[in-house]
Amino acid sequence: MPAGTAFRTLALILNSKGYTNRYSNSDFMKTLTGILLLTLSCSLQAQRNCGSEAYKTQLVQNNPAVAQSIQAAALQIKKTLEQNRLVARRDTSANELINIPVVIHVVYNTPEQNISETQILSQLTALNNDFSNQNSDKVNRPLVFDNVAADARIRFCLAQVAPDGRPAKGIIRKQTSMSVFSADDAVKSNMRGGDDAWDSKKYLNIWVCNLGGRTLGYASLPGSPANVDGVVIGFDVFGTVGSLRPRFNKGRTLTHEVGHWLGVKHIWGDTECGDDEADDTPRQRTYNFGCPSFPTVSACSETADGDMFMNFMDFSDDACMNMFTVEQKKRMRALFATGNFRNNFLASFACDSTLVQAGPVAVDTVAAPVPVKQDVYKIYPNPASSFVTLEYTPAAALIKKSFTVYSITGVKVLSGELTKEKTTLSLSHLMRGIYIVRIGEGSETITRKISKQ
Ligand SMILES: [Zn+2]
Repeated sequence: MPAGTAFRTLALILNSKGYTNRYSNSDFMKTLTGILLLTLSCSLQAQRNCGSEAYKTQLVQNNPAVAQSIQAAALQIKKTLEQNRLVARRDTSANELINIPVVIHVVYNTPEQNISETQILSQLTALNNDFSNQNSDKVNRPLVFDNVAADARIRFCLAQVAPDGRPAKGIIRKQTSMSVFSADDAVKSNMRGGDDAWDSKKYLNIWVCNLGGRTLGYASLPGSPANVDGVVIGFDVFGTVGSLRPRFNKGRTLTHEVGHWLGVKHIWGDTECGDDEADDTPRQRTYNFGCPSFPTVSACSETADGDMFMNFMDFSDDACMNMFTVEQKKRMRALFATGNFRNNFLASFACDSTLVQAGPVAVDTVAAPVPVKQDVYKIYPNPASSFVTLEYTPAAALIKKSFTVYSITGVKVLSGELTKEKTTLSLSHLMRGIYIVRIGEGSETITRKISKQ
């Protein structure tokens, strides 16, 4: 059963028992959702998971203006495609090669995460093969789908010129004290233990790190804010050599995420029998995983050929995906048309080492580690009887933190603010049992269980 279906089933069980309407606080509900997803992930760990859609939702929630910008970029693609259809049905602008300079930020905590240059180069090769329809496994496609496969005429190079005009290698290595990153953009920020982006109007930023949970990677959609524009990917699914997860060892996680970065959607349209706005990808009910065999027909297949599970924008294993289509290619290239969101790349010459300006060699090989202090919370005693103390050692100056205590059924029983390092709460009016303490806001929230005796 696909994870989406499993999760929907669980959500329905909760609804049918009337639990959800007791939660007055949507954040708490999100925490609960997180716990459910985490539980599910244990049984589904080996499956591909792309964090881009959840990431977009989070980004838009935190900053509603981003929704308009992403929408505007999507409209640019649509408008350009409509114009091109009117003008002799030709491809977006000319079919000239588009060169994308790439900067790889290797943000590592352990030597294993500090991946080799060979591994990085193997990923670049795979990415270029996939985008140019030169991947050797294209022979595995059924003829009916091979007929719509495309060379996107987009190529990627390690940046040869740094933003300041000096020579570059296109690889930045930076040690961090963060043992794991999540899909919250910390890896894109010096301040949060990651590494700041290079100008995302001229470079595709790719951060390689230890990405927690079951997310293999996530991408920002066109229209996202400049400082977070790029792709984040786990070190153990990056490239084709090195210590890689067996099912994700052909570099296709990056191919998929760069597809999103170029405005291409999941092939099932992120909803049951949805539309990915590429006319030559057949409608399919949901994502595939593992290694399906042809034909795989689903509830909304329009022909006996069924799903295009070998498309890079499905969730099949690396060894079983091998193509973009002509219409997907048109979506990507529409982004580069005059006035559109990635048009600046046509004027980015950082792939050409002859355009380096005189100057010392950029120190983009090894940067000094930046220690990151994190907030520390203690809750004691636990189990507690009459009183419990919340202790908070802030990383920076003391910032007020809100806290809420919920019963196990989600009823809010206590709330307030932590304004000093230690706050003692009286529990004497509460019944015995398990309570949940939530401290902080948004992505900084921590949740702990306490037992009242
Ligand atoms: Zn995806």
